[in-house]
Amino acid sequence: MAKKLALVILEDCIGCEACVAACPTGAMEMNEDDLAISNSHICDGEEECGECAPTCPVECILYVEEDDERLVWGEKS
Ligand code: SF4
Ligand code: SF4
Repeated sequence: MAKKLALVILEDCIGCEACVAACPTGAMEMNEDDLAISNSHICDGEEECGECAPTCPVECILYVEEDDERLVWGEKS
């Protein structure tokens, strides 16, 4: 099974930081706009972790395939 990574739908994120607190690897962090992001390079993914999505009050965290083009949002510049 392909590894799945956490993706935040930024339009829906309210910046509550619940996912940031829940993430054991530091993959979830806030960007300068105070929105949560997922750093796909260090996220362990749903198979190994899956801690973040259940904490999100607006259900804007999805688990997607590693090659999902939307993950570019979470890449560090
Ligand atoms: S799946 Fe786990 S490691 Fe990945 S962002 Fe969510 S809490 Fe962090
Ligand atoms: S838990 Fe959901 S709403 Fe809160 S910061 Fe994370 S992604 Fe955004």
